[in-house]
Amino acid sequence: MENKKRLLTGLKPTGDLTLGNYIGAIMQMVKRQEEFDSYLFVADLHAITIHQPPEELRRRIKEFIALYIACGIDPKKNTIYLQSDNEFIPSISWLLECSTYYGEASRMIQFKEKSKQNANFTLGLLTYPVLMAADILYVDSDYVPVGIDQKQHVELARDIAERFNKMYGETFKLPEPLITESGVKIKDLKDPSKKMSKSEENPNGVICLLDTKEQITKKIMSATTDSEMQVKYDPENKPGISNLINICISLTNDTIQQVEEKFVGKNYGEFKKYVAELVCDRIGKIQERYEELINSKELEDILNEGAAKTKQLAKDKYEAMRQKMGLVR
Ligand code: AMP
Repeated sequence: MENKKRLLTGLKPTGDLTLGNYIGAIMQMVKRQEEFDSYLFVADLHAITIHQPPEELRRRIKEFIALYIACGIDPKKNTIYLQSDNEFIPSISWLLECSTYYGEASRMIQFKEKSKQNANFTLGLLTYPVLMAADILYVDSDYVPVGIDQKQHVELARDIAERFNKMYGETFKLPEPLITESGVKIKDLKDPSKKMSKSEENPNGVICLLDTKEQITKKIMSATTDSEMQVKYDPENKPGISNLINICISLTNDTIQQVEEKFVGKNYGEFKKYVAELVCDRIGKIQERYEELINSKELEDILNEGAAKTKQLAKDKYEAMRQKMGLVR
C-alpha cells in the first residue's frame, strides 16, 4: 500500500442504498480500490447538518458499512471507519475554521442553494465544507473522488491547506478532486425521465439493495415501457426499455447488441423476467453477505480497527497543528 496514492471517500448515511447507487457509484469504487490506498468513512457528522431521526441514523450507519462490504468493498484494501468515532476530526475542523473566511464559506454553491431551500438552516450547513476539509487533510489524501457538485469543496480544502501551510509552516498535503465518470445513470422504473433516487417518494420505481426478491421482481415486471414490442436501445424514444438494457449490460459482460439479439421476436414480459432474474441474483448474493455481516463481530472489528488507525493519524495531525499555532502551555 505504501507507494499507492491515497484516496478518501465519505458516504452520507441518508436514504436507503439503491440499484442506482450500486451500478453508478459502488461498482466503480470496487474497481478503484485496486489502484489506491483507500479510506472510506461513513460521514455521519455530515448527515446531521439536516436533522436526522436518531433511530434511523443508528440503523443506517451499520447498514451502509455492511452493504458496501457486501457489494465488494474489501476491508483489506480500505481503511473503513465511522467519522464520529474520531473525536479529533471536529477539533481539527475548528482549527481550520479559524483559517477560513466567512466570505469563502458563504460563496459555496451548495450552501447558497440549500440555504435558499430552507430559511431555517443550521450553521453546520455553512461550515460543513470545513469539516470536509478536516476529513481530507488529516489523512493526507492525494485524491478525493467527487461529483462535479462537490468539486468546489475539495478546492476549498486545498485553499485552506495552502493558507495554513503558508501561515504556520508545511503541515498539509494539497488534495486534488478526482472527477469521477460515474457509471451509467440508472433511471426510475416508473418514470424513466428521471434518475432512480433514494429520495423518490414513489417506491415502485426504485430498487433498494435490501428489497426482497418478490419486491424486486414486482417492480421490474411493472416497469414503464412503451407500446412497441421491440427490445431496442433508444434512450430518447424508448427510455424504459433502454434503462432495463443499461441494467443488463452493467450487471453482465454483454453488449447492448447482444442483449437486443437475445430478445429478437420475444415480448417485453420475457425480457423483464430476464432482467428481474439478473437483478435478484446479484442483489441476492449481496444480501447473503450482508446478513453474515450486519450483526457480526467481524463488522465491529473492521470499524474498531479503522477507528484506532485513523484516530492516531488525526491525533498526530491535531497535535502538530496545536504546536504550530501556539496552542500549548
Ligand atoms: P446519492 O444517492 O444521490 O447521494 O448519490 C451517491 C452516489 O451514487 C453518486 O456517486 C451518484 O452519482 C450515484 N448514483 C445515485 N443514483 C444513481 C443512479 N440512479 N444511477 C447512477 N448512479 C447513481
